[in-house]
Amino acid sequence: MATLSKELIEITEAQKIISDNPLELDTETIKLSEALGRVLAEDLRAPEALPRYTNSAMDGFCIVWNGQTELDIIGESHAGHPYHNRVQAGQAVRISTGAALPEGTDTVVPIENLELQEGKIKIVVEPKKISEHVRFKGEEIQSGDLIIKSGVEINPSHLAMLASFGQTELLVYKKPKLAIILTGSELRAYDDQEIGDYEIRESNGIMLEGMVKLAKAELISMTRVEDRLDSTIAALESACQAADCIIFSGGVSVGTKDFVKAATAALDFEQLFWKIKQKPGKPLFFARKAKKLVFGLPGNPVSALFCFSHYIQPLLLKAQAYPSKQNKVKAKVKADIKNKGNRTNFIRVHYQKQNQELELIKHQGSHMMSSCTEANAFLELKPEQELLAGDEVELILMPWERL
Ligand code: AMP
Ligand code: MG
Repeated sequence: MATLSKELIEITEAQKIISDNPLELDTETIKLSEALGRVLAEDLRAPEALPRYTNSAMDGFCIVWNGQTELDIIGESHAGHPYHNRVQAGQAVRISTGAALPEGTDTVVPIENLELQEGKIKIVVEPKKISEHVRFKGEEIQSGDLIIKSGVEINPSHLAMLASFGQTELLVYKKPKLAIILTGSELRAYDDQEIGDYEIRESNGIMLEGMVKLAKAELISMTRVEDRLDSTIAALESACQAADCIIFSGGVSVGTKDFVKAATAALDFEQLFWKIKQKPGKPLFFARKAKKLVFGLPGNPVSALFCFSHYIQPLLLKAQAYPSKQNKVKAKVKADIKNKGNRTNFIRVHYQKQNQELELIKHQGSHMMSSCTEANAFLELKPEQELLAGDEVELILMPWERL
C-alpha cells in the first residue's frame, strides 16, 4: 500500500486521484413512470413504426384527390373507429384528427376548406398536392430506428415517446448510495431544544443532504458520532454495509480528537490523499477499500461545502453519466485583489448580472456560512496571484446557482 504523502498536494493531483478512483455503479431496471431525470444505460430502438397506421392530421374529409371538387359523403372515420370499406374517386369520408385513413383515400381536405351540402361536400380551397394533411405510417420512425441513445437523461418528451411504443421499463444507471457521518462531541441536533454552553447546533448534516440531492445521489443514512476512535470505527463499519461512498464531516484535521483517518486505517482502507494546497478545505481526506470510497470533509461548514462541490459532486454526477462540469461565468474585477498566501484561495464573491462585475464578500472565514449565503460564486486565486480592477476572470458558480 502506498504511503500517504505528508506534503500538501496540488488541486489537480487530488482531482486526478479522484478520477482514477471512480465510483463503479451498476445498472438497474426501473418503471417508465419513475424514469424522469434518470440516465439511460442502453441504446433504445423502436419496436414498431410511428405513426402506427396512416391517419389524418386534420378534422375534415378524406378523398381520392383527382381534381374533382364535388364529392358524395359515404361515411365517417373516427379516432379509434375506422371506416372499413374501400373509397372510390368521387366519394368522401368524414374524418377526425388521428383517425385511420380508409383504404383508397390519399388526401385530407380540412373542414374549413370546404362547404357541406346535402349528402355532399364542395371543396373551395383545393389541396396543393396528393397526400396533403396525411400522416403516413412510419413517416416519423421506422421499426428498428435508434430512438434514444445510452447516456441520455430522460426528460418528459422521452417519456411520451417511450410510452407511445409501449415501453414499460428502462435500464438506467443506479444512483450512488451515500452515508454521512458527522463527527464532533460539541454537536447537538439543530432541532434539539436544549443546548449546552459549549455546544453548537449541527448544520453540516442538512447542508450535505442538500448537496447530495443536487448531485442526484441517494442519501441512505446520516449518523452523529462523538470524537472517539471506537465510535468512529463502528459508524464507518456500519455505513459500509450499504453505502457506495461514505462522507465524514469533521475529525480529519490534526487535533488529538480527530479520528477519521485512524478509523479508515483500522478498517484497512487505502488512504489516497490528505491535505490539498487550497483554502478553504485544506484537510480534505480520500480513501478507498474495494468499491467503497470515503471522503473526510473538514468540519468548518464553508470548507465542507466547498470540498463537496469541487470534488465530490463531479464524481457523483460522472458516475451516473450526468454532465459534471461546474458552471462558470466571466466577470470583471471591481477592485485590485491579491492572494498573499501559498495555497489556492476560493474566495466567495457575488457576481452582479447587470454589469458582469464581481464583489468580494466581506467575511471570508471558513467557519462563516454568511460568506456563502451572500455569494453566488467562487473566485479561484492561485498563490501570489494578483488581479487588477478591470481584469476579466472566470468564476465558478455555486452548485445551486443558475444565471
Ligand atoms: P473539525 O474539522 O472537526 O476540527 O471541526 C472544525 C470546526 O467545524 C469546528 O469549529 C467544529 O465545531 C465545526 N463543525 C464540525 N462539524 C460541524 C457540523 N456538523 N456543523 C457545524 N459545524 C461543525
Ligand atoms: Mg471535530
